[in-house]
Amino acid sequence: MSRGLLLALVLLVSACGQREAQVHDTQLLVFGTLVNVSIWGGDKDTAVAATSAVEQRLVQMHRDLHAWQPGPLTRINHAITARKSVQLDSEQALLIRRGTELSRQSGGLFNPGIGSLIGLWGFHSDDGPHGPPPGDALIQIQLAKTPRMSDLHIKDGRLHSDNPAVQLDFGGFAKGYAVDEAIRTLREHHVDNAIVNAGGDLRVIGRHGGRPWRIGIRDPKNSGVIASVEVAGDESVFTSGDYERYFEYQGRRYHHIIDPRSGYPAMGSSSVTILSKEAIVADAAATALFVAGPEAWQTTAMAMGIDQAMLIDDQGRVYMTPSMAARVHFEIDPPPPVQIVSP
Ligand code: ADP
Ligand code: MG
Repeated sequence: MSRGLLLALVLLVSACGQREAQVHDTQLLVFGTLVNVSIWGGDKDTAVAATSAVEQRLVQMHRDLHAWQPGPLTRINHAITARKSVQLDSEQALLIRRGTELSRQSGGLFNPGIGSLIGLWGFHSDDGPHGPPPGDALIQIQLAKTPRMSDLHIKDGRLHSDNPAVQLDFGGFAKGYAVDEAIRTLREHHVDNAIVNAGGDLRVIGRHGGRPWRIGIRDPKNSGVIASVEVAGDESVFTSGDYERYFEYQGRRYHHIIDPRSGYPAMGSSSVTILSKEAIVADAAATALFVAGPEAWQTTAMAMGIDQAMLIDDQGRVYMTPSMAARVHFEIDPPPPVQIVSP
């Protein structure tokens, strides 16, 4: 081996060592989950200040967006029930507008106005849901009230609802919004290379040194990783799964993603993973495609402008769009049967 090559190798190795030292990793217990903020490069003071700003922002959002603990959102919901109009701050108005648009695109499968149904199923509980499931008569009464985001109107910053049954629950896209806000906060602090990972749902900016960030996608059937994907630039990866929040009652599992058409936990899907730029869109689309299920997810993906999606059904069969298939690398041997479907 020539001296030159050896020297180059040594330099490369020491550069790699330095690279690891350039990662500033912090775990935050906020937003009801463990959030990992990894910042690559830059100086330590910048990373510390940026991470602490992210933490403050996440704590604030968790308080402001909570669907059942008394706070700004429950005040809005009380006003809607009382048929009163209510003043919104700019963040509430933005979330209601975006929620309405995402709901419209999804044909109502994503519906952040079904808070009463979600509460009826016991998912508005700090100790976790436990059952029993609600009686069918109660579910039918809620469904008959047809809460829709299109019932809401914002004029001069005030919210008015045509339908007192609309109850806002941002659980289907609040984490996405929070991750977007965390990334925006990092950028304000001049951080260019980072990953904000909220319990497996994440957004990435820039690169991990010379390479992309490698992301594992959880296997819905066990706690391992089924596949991985490399992300760089500016991209989000969000998964909705039937394993995230659920209760078991008399041998059946009831999970937290509710089909607004039936009023029952959506059937047919085990998990849906979405890649898209904005985390808020990826989060809402993961929920919507989960509800759409193995027969209809492509139509919903197209309507929501999503071209990279993967659905694992309740039999373990994997469905993907062609652009998702081009990026996914299976981590299990043998890989599962895959159906590649154009949206
Ligand atoms: P996870 O990432 O935890 O799997 P999701 O992003 O799919 O979860 O969000 C599930 C949460 O969204 C529920 O806990 C509930 O608050 C809310 N939700 C349930 N069903 C719907 C729906 N059809 N549309 C919008 N939000 C929903
Ligand atoms: Mg979601």
